[in-house]
Amino acid sequence: MFHRSLVGSSNQVWKLCLSLSLVFLGAVPLVLAFVNIEQLTPEKGFLLVFGGLFLMGTGLLAGTLLVKCPNCGAKLLWKALSAAPASRWFTWLLTLSTCPVCGYNVPGGRQHHGLDVEL
Ligand SMILES: [Zn+2]
Repeated sequence: MFHRSLVGSSNQVWKLCLSLSLVFLGAVPLVLAFVNIEQLTPEKGFLLVFGGLFLMGTGLLAGTLLVKCPNCGAKLLWKALSAAPASRWFTWLLTLSTCPVCGYNVPGGRQHHGLDVEL
């Protein structure tokens, strides 16, 4: 499925996985902070919340900057997050075989601009 997508054919799945891993990893300290909010000192609570938000922000920023069209450099994760329907952005990104900016098509792939999303 992924080898015919822009992300898969240009070997960028690891970037997407790294980005999403950082976002989910950043959620762990946030959950810990909110679950243990009564037992935490303000300093520890701040560190957990700040650390979690930092990891999530870093993951999101890295993904939006690094997952790009191999031809024109359009930021595909950003396109997916900002323009695709919220419930389908991940599927849209993983099945995208034609760049919505330059029209670059994956060699051997069929034209797929997304799930009827106007970009
Ligand atoms: Zn492009």
